[in-house]
Amino acid sequence: MQASRDKIVSMHYTLTADDGNVLDSSTGGEPLSYLHGHGNIVPGLENALEGAKTGFKSRVTVEPADGYGERREEMVIAAPREQFDPAMDLKPGLQVVANGPQGQIIFTVREVSDEEVTLDGNHPLAGQRLHFEVEVTDIRAASEEELSHGHVHGPGGHHH
Ligand code: ZN
Repeated sequence: MQASRDKIVSMHYTLTADDGNVLDSSTGGEPLSYLHGHGNIVPGLENALEGAKTGFKSRVTVEPADGYGERREEMVIAAPREQFDPAMDLKPGLQVVANGPQGQIIFTVREVSDEEVTLDGNHPLAGQRLHFEVEVTDIRAASEEELSHGHVHGPGGHHH
């Protein structure tokens, strides 16, 4: 079976930043499973896996446009400190969830002063070139239920 639309692809992967820093890896755990052709993984990696078979191994470099997007400075905003619960331990790196017009947005706190909190709505990996090392471990057809939900159930996927 080959990776194509509506197949469940399982793979081991290691994601490395341009500077060689390992950002994420499935090594030592369950392989990641995703529903191919539904944008569940970054487009650059999904495209590279199109047509892959079990045992396929590759190193894939993904440019920001095909990864988590370019950084957009307009996604960095300042909010009054008083809008936050005083009990919150606001510090750089903390992630906070806000409700935007198109659903939830995750912001990363960049700076905190007495008056203002600087929030960055960019994905933490936006603007970064990504290096994936992948090995496809299994490919199977998706169930009707998985297709209707748009994601994988069971090992390496959603449990609900
Ligand atoms: Zn589901």
